[in-house]
Amino acid sequence: MLSLFSPSYLHTMDSTISRLLDGKNLAQRIQTELQQQVEQLQHKFGRPPGLAVLMVGDNPASAAYVNNKEKACAKVGIASFGKHFPTDTTQSELEAVIEELNQDERVDGILVQLPLPEHLDAMSTTGYANALLHKIAPHKDADGLHPVNLGHLVRGEEGLRSCTPAGVMRLLEEYKIDLKGKNTVVVGRSILVGKPLALMLLAADATVTIAHSRSQDLSAITRSADILIAAVGRPKFITADMVKPQAVVIDVGINRITDENGKSRLVGDVDFHSVKHVAAFLTPVPGGVGAMTVAMLLQNTVQSYIKSMNN
Ligand code: NAP
Repeated sequence: MLSLFSPSYLHTMDSTISRLLDGKNLAQRIQTELQQQVEQLQHKFGRPPGLAVLMVGDNPASAAYVNNKEKACAKVGIASFGKHFPTDTTQSELEAVIEELNQDERVDGILVQLPLPEHLDAMSTTGYANALLHKIAPHKDADGLHPVNLGHLVRGEEGLRSCTPAGVMRLLEEYKIDLKGKNTVVVGRSILVGKPLALMLLAADATVTIAHSRSQDLSAITRSADILIAAVGRPKFITADMVKPQAVVIDVGINRITDENGKSRLVGDVDFHSVKHVAAFLTPVPGGVGAMTVAMLLQNTVQSYIKSMNN
């Protein structure tokens, strides 16, 4: 059981404040477990799991994410079949590549790094639900964003789950945060984070509210939350006055800002320095949800691999 006096609480000169939910540490543990599992399984199955990360264009943030994912794959023993395409690659060229990867028996997971250049978002209303994602075979959908997998989530059936929301759920579970009947507010309704996360929280018996840019009196909504999750994409958007004392606050946001000293750094959607005085638990950025997303991607790939090799 967690103790209020655990050394992993943040301390200031005068008070004890939020406990950090350490995604980095948990993600490393998950990766070590996966690595051991893969080592054993590849003797049995005769090949390692394979993941293909497809990137289009030169978005520097995407390039850094892809690099992280490939490094993590290498650590765990997952073979990378990544491909990098120029910005002007056409929809049909990419569809042909995905079709090939769907048929490739060495590949268990396929991920299209988002966001895509605009000309590839033809079917999209959200910027995420694009035609390319629909082309990925659902059993290789490592990001869990294919309509079939999202449908399984809605229905409470087994399937590949979206990595970031799954990472949030795993982190809450690790710290034994009780969700049953708790008022849980998710700020953000994207198909990538907010919507699937709300469904996962609902499946865990939380009472869920989804807030978004049209919500009225957002602060009143967020202050009602025992568990508050920010997936907004606005730096330091959630401030201390928006948080119920002793709430659990999960920061999904990753925003690059130039700080007061002119330095570029990553911050979340939560104003960490004010909220840490109010919340009981808080995720850091970086080192919180971001690390968990990568761990869940590897876990999905290994899950697909086991399923495919046992068929
Ligand atoms: P998104 O698609 O831009 O969605 C943002 C959501 O926030 C939308 O639903 C939007 O509402 C809502 N919103 C925007 N301004 C608001 C406001 N003033 N008040 C209330 N709601 C507001 O972003 P996303 O893909 O979900 O990502 C959200 C954040 O998470 C970003 O910082 C992203 O970088 C980060 N992220 C992190 C990870 C990770 O691994 N940690 C993974 C994915 C994303 P409307 O729907 O009404 O427009």
